[in-house]
Amino acid sequence: MSAAARVTAGVTFAARLAFEHIGHSYGPDAVTLRDLSLSAEPGEVLCLLGPSGSGKTTLLRIAAGIEPQSSGRVLLNDREIAGPAVFLPPEQRSIGLVFQDFALFPHLTILDNVRFGLTALSAEQARKEARIALGRVGLEQYAGSYPHVLSGGEQQRVALARALAPRPAVLLMDEPFSGLDSRLKDSVRAETLAILRQSRATAIVVTHDAEEAMRLGDRIALLKGGRLVQVGTAQELYERPADLFVAGFFSELNRFDGRVTDGAVDTPVGRVPARGLGEGAAATVAVRTSGIDVDPNAGEVAARIVSRHYLGVVEQLEMAVPGAESTVRARIRCGVLPSAARDVRLSLRPTDVLVFETAVENA
Ligand code: ADP
Repeated sequence: MSAAARVTAGVTFAARLAFEHIGHSYGPDAVTLRDLSLSAEPGEVLCLLGPSGSGKTTLLRIAAGIEPQSSGRVLLNDREIAGPAVFLPPEQRSIGLVFQDFALFPHLTILDNVRFGLTALSAEQARKEARIALGRVGLEQYAGSYPHVLSGGEQQRVALARALAPRPAVLLMDEPFSGLDSRLKDSVRAETLAILRQSRATAIVVTHDAEEAMRLGDRIALLKGGRLVQVGTAQELYERPADLFVAGFFSELNRFDGRVTDGAVDTPVGRVPARGLGEGAAATVAVRTSGIDVDPNAGEVAARIVSRHYLGVVEQLEMAVPGAESTVRARIRCGVLPSAARDVRLSLRPTDVLVFETAVENA
């Protein structure tokens, strides 16, 4: 298919992008990705989440064709676009890119910025397509203006329009909101999601922010050290984390180490069931700070408040608990605990208690 046909047809919308056993290294001692298999389904927003250096950007660059993988394959709608025998250059992949810094040309009008990637079309057709894309992000009235007149959020929408204008099968976004100030972020993120839904493009979005991934992603793929740790919906990752790392990425935790005896683990905050763990196994108990009820009188465990910080909707408490090596933290709703309370009782909400076999790397 010619580039022009691909650009105008728009039939490649809602494609599936799959990574199969991807390996990558920047040098002999710099392995970045290890045997990573993952797919973004048609029309889905998939978030790549992980700490800095976990390989998210590298995976995105491999999808775009900017970086070759060392092993494995990338498939678009079951067609190999990068593998041992094939390597399609970026411009033949039907993939759009949005970067963190928007990368708009200051000396070009907004319309010309959006038109920039439409080189396969006639000037007139390109202008028409660029106007459609600008309309999709609600900025057609700025077509003749220059980027500096726009707010950060609007510039981000122009960058999105530019990426969507050639009607890519897949849109890749690398930390697209990190350049925005925190007040703008929520609204721009919501607008972007609405535009992605309307365009029906499959999108892969890189972020290091778990809450952002939960707000945006139909599914989240969590990476660590170049490996895929877990992929699923926000609810699956939050409620059934595969390990302590996943749990800690989605909530603030108190952590206690112990051993399984008679199917449960003793901790300073109580005895908790250890489903699925063998007798005598070393166990790590993680208790969400939001999952501890604090009451002046009722509760199984005695504690003494050592610090208390008002955060608006919630208060953060630190408490000394007999037998605990460090203070136990809890987040409770403001106003539920009398301000004079000092000696209190704790109880744990079972859904906020997670028990894992202690891994060497968690120890
Ligand atoms: P993330 O996007 O999750 O922060 P990256 O994919 O950017 O992770 O980086 C993964 C690892 O590869 C990091 O250890 C990083 O230092 C390294 N790395 C990234 N880019 C290069 C490069 N061009 N040359 C050498 N090492 C790199």
